[in-house]
This record gives sequence, C-alpha cells and structure tokens, in this order.
Amino acid sequence: MDGQDVNAAREIAALPPEAAGWVDHLGIAVADLETGIRLWRDVLGLELERAEEVPTEQVKVAFLRLDRATGRGHVELLQPTAPESAIAKFVAKRGPGLHHVAIAVADVAAALRSCAEAGIEAIDTAPRVGAGGKQVAFLHPKSTGGVLIELCAAAPPQGRQPIPA
Ligand SMILES: [Zn+2]
Repeated sequence: MDGQDVNAAREIAALPPEAAGWVDHLGIAVADLETGIRLWRDVLGLELERAEEVPTEQVKVAFLRLDRATGRGHVELLQPTAPESAIAKFVAKRGPGLHHVAIAVADVAAALRSCAEAGIEAIDTAPRVGAGGKQVAFLHPKSTGGVLIELCAAAPPQGRQPIPA
C-alpha cells in the first residue's frame, strides 16, 4: 500500500504542470443516487469508494472505481439536492446523463493559465475546492467543442474509506 502511494506521487511529480495524467472521473448526472449506485455497482460491478454531500455544489455524489488496481479513474454520480443547483438544471433541461469529463492535472492553476493562453474560456478563473477536497476548475463547453471539462488536481489514490449508510 505504501509502495503504491510512493509510485503514484513520483509519477505526478514527473508530469509537467499542465499535463493531463489520466481521466480522473466521468461526471454523470442522476435523478437518484441509490438508483445510479444499483446500476454502476450492483449490475456493472464497479467498487463504491465513497459517497458524500457537497453543499457548495448542492449535490450528493458517489465515486465508483473504474480501476480497482490503481484506484484511478472513477464514475462520479451527481444527484442534485436543490432545484437551483447546476445539476438539477441540467437534468431538467436534458435529462440524466453524462455531464462532464474530469482530467487529472498536476497543477490546476497552471493548467488554467495554459488554457487562457490558448484562448479557451474557463467557467472558473481560479481553482476552487470540489468533491473530495480536491482543487478543481471547469472550462466552458463553448470553448471545448461542447464538452464540459473539469480540471482536477491529481492526487495519489486514496485508501478505502467506509461509506456512510
Ligand atoms: Zn466532477
């Protein structure tokens, strides 16, 4: 376990500041978290890593591991907790489904600067704290071919944590 974490940290340190290391997660909007977990965990067999509420985003989220070996790559299920949340508006307009793609970067602020230099408009002009306490920033879909891209701070895979009932 310790050895794995050391390797992960080395790999991240070796990346240039703005480089994308891997897909951190796919953000999927759901009407109901439990129904989503039944599909992704119970039917498709992904391991539920954690579930949490993110009050600042007005969502409940569940993270399921795509790769059990490395702990990297997740499906993030997002259930709105208030009608005015961005996810609630998305579901009302388009129905549940793929909401964003999050790529891991070593330095979110540096990645934002690179994007700005390339003329890509960001929703967040500075990194903010997202799910899991990680630094995140979103790029505007009108600058990215219609894909909502989340830049997500790379971090070594987390150990297993109990899921609150
Ligand atoms: Zn996300």
